[in-house]
Amino acid sequence: MDTPVIRCPACGAGNRVPLEKVRAGLNPICGRCKAPMPIDVRPVTVTDASFTREVDRWRLPVLLDLWAPWCGPCRMLAPVLDELAGALAGRVRIAKLNVDENPVSAARFQARGIPLLVVLVAGHEVDRLAGLRSRAEILRHLEPVLT
Ligand SMILES: [Zn+2]
Repeated sequence: MDTPVIRCPACGAGNRVPLEKVRAGLNPICGRCKAPMPIDVRPVTVTDASFTREVDRWRLPVLLDLWAPWCGPCRMLAPVLDELAGALAGRVRIAKLNVDENPVSAARFQARGIPLLVVLVAGHEVDRLAGLRSRAEILRHLEPVLT
């Protein structure tokens, strides 16, 4: 079973979190301080309405995927991001923004094309990767923000 050690956002204690249980819908709590530990095991869909809460104010670094359903390379990137969301659970949030349905957030990043991946820390862009990228390339750009 996949049980990474994930740091509690409230007290900093390392908790062994069985991702199988998170995938099954259970919400883990910290063994030391009992605070809830929101952990994504798959990409999270964000919208113009939820962007501030789900991305800008999120406690973890966010890899934001700007995509659209008609974009072939975006669809090819999707399984890579699905896998990374599990591999980086509790360390990075992977958020997906449909640029056609969310023009306000899309305009903020002035994408000249999609897919566009943006690395954000506390709402600030720290890096971006345009176009279809490999898992290894994406990981390399995430390494500076992983703790
Ligand atoms: Zn705790």
